[in-house]
Amino acid sequence: MSKRTMYAGDVTAADIDKTVTLKGWVKKSRRLGNLIFVDLRDRAGVVQLVFSAEFDAAALEQANELRSEYVIEATGEVKARKPEAVNKKMHTGEVEVEVHQLTVLNKSKTPPFDIEDGVNASEDTKLKYRYLDLRRPEMQKALLLRSKITMATNRYFDENGFIYIETPDLTKSTPEGARDYLVPSRVYPGSFYALPQSPQLFKQLLMGAGYDRYFQIARCFRDEDLRGDRQPEFTQIDMETSFLSAEEIQTLTEGLLKRVMKDVMGIDIKTPIQRMDWQEAQDRFGSDKPDLRFGMELQDVSDLVKDSDFKVFSGAVANGGQVKAIVLPQAAAKYSRKKIEEQQEYIKRFGAKGLAWMKVTDDGISGPISKFFGDGKELTDKLDAKSGDLVLFVASTPKVVADSLGYLRTHFAKDLDLIDESQFRFVWIVNWPLFEYDEGDKRWVPAHHPFTMPNEEDVHLLDSEPYKAHAQSYDIVLNGYEIGGGSIRIHNREIQEKMLKALDFTPERAQKQFGFLLDALDYGFPPHGGLAIGLDRFAMLLAGRDNIRDVIAFPKNSNASEPMTRAPQPVVDSQLEPLGIELNATGEKEQADEGNAPEDK
Ligand code: ASP
Repeated sequence: MSKRTMYAGDVTAADIDKTVTLKGWVKKSRRLGNLIFVDLRDRAGVVQLVFSAEFDAAALEQANELRSEYVIEATGEVKARKPEAVNKKMHTGEVEVEVHQLTVLNKSKTPPFDIEDGVNASEDTKLKYRYLDLRRPEMQKALLLRSKITMATNRYFDENGFIYIETPDLTKSTPEGARDYLVPSRVYPGSFYALPQSPQLFKQLLMGAGYDRYFQIARCFRDEDLRGDRQPEFTQIDMETSFLSAEEIQTLTEGLLKRVMKDVMGIDIKTPIQRMDWQEAQDRFGSDKPDLRFGMELQDVSDLVKDSDFKVFSGAVANGGQVKAIVLPQAAAKYSRKKIEEQQEYIKRFGAKGLAWMKVTDDGISGPISKFFGDGKELTDKLDAKSGDLVLFVASTPKVVADSLGYLRTHFAKDLDLIDESQFRFVWIVNWPLFEYDEGDKRWVPAHHPFTMPNEEDVHLLDSEPYKAHAQSYDIVLNGYEIGGGSIRIHNREIQEKMLKALDFTPERAQKQFGFLLDALDYGFPPHGGLAIGLDRFAMLLAGRDNIRDVIAFPKNSNASEPMTRAPQPVVDSQLEPLGIELNATGEKEQADEGNAPEDK
């Protein structure tokens, strides 16, 4: 084997007349008369190789055998292509390599899908052959971008005096609102470690220990229903600081975002990043992670419709609710009644009973509810709706209205192609409520986590009306995605105990579950706060993808399994016995096969 002299994808006109040795994969090969052309791919790109008896008869003979995905080594001379053969779309398109020595390093079966961008194969096939999927240029680009984010992050924190500290994966439950992944203990049968939902409590304890500025690229585990932007295990850029205010932590974070956007994307973002109150985000965008790349804001028309004969509207206002609308510009002709009303099904999950709508015409309004509003001028004036616009209304409690219209706003903006995909719009959402009501579980839960400090002026509310308190927390949002969040934490035992009490913890349960933290707060714990950024989501957005799987080397599929290794798998009894675990689902045991048994030691 000769030594590789450069990457195939980097060969350009600057290398003309050089002899190069390249190594990589055959993308395709084709014979043209007495010549064979081979596209050679490596992580840098593709270059064209040419074989001819003129350069080397033996190499030409060997090239006959080449098939897609064979791994080869080729040595030859870089030459300018004939003008008519120049391919401007390829980085290497001005040159080709005339090969005089070829070695096949390995053969390949025909891959189950073509190794190229935008390939049409099912997600599970791609994940089953992930090593082939990852060979595709767009995947390599995405993982390279992710790596650049990680490296820029490391540089930034290092330069700003942060210390990289690893926290454990086998630990005790750290509540971030999801179900835990549990790991049974062999030493204590019947006891379990929990995989961390985040390093939250450990990073706080590091502040207690005086480390002052911590960061870590940390793996987090949450057993929750999967979506395009969620995986059972994911990565956070996690940080914590002592003695800084919420604003100072936001400024530090902006420095990181600025650095990453510059180093990775070559984009200068303006700082300070806009801050928006949580309430304002709800009111104007129906979301705590508003996408500010487009308008279509929610508008309150309660006053105008409270006396109308349309009982759905007047009734909602009479019951203390509201009626809000969004205007879809020039969308009236695009959507049929059926298409609009289809959306009712989607907003039912937010608790909405229905979706009212009207189309604005040259001489008024049309649609099933138009008869209640005359020529609709009052409404259309207030909403600034023009002829050809479609107006959607939801009448209910503020939360249902916000959730429903917030969803419809993004749904239709995408459908109407109103989003400028080249923009990166960051916004801080600040002044969050400390708690939110979980309709499913019918109880109050922390809006972030139970260690978040209330606003100073709200601390007294913990004794009387805790659910009215606001928090010193902040989320950073990019293009409608929450990419990170954090807060000033509670560093005082009394406040922490009150917080846990408001979450229905008895003092005994609080001590049992969080005694280690409560006790630590007794020993000179500094004021502190921090934040975590979801690396996968951030990378997904920068890579312009819409699923975090595309920026994770070996992700799970949407059913939380991993088609390549086939994890998770049943295990054999001999593995369960020392853990004191016996399965009651008989079928499951039978599936365990020897291939899954650990090596006998
Ligand atoms: N631990 C939090 C989370 O995972 C982030 C933080 O508050 O620093 O969302």
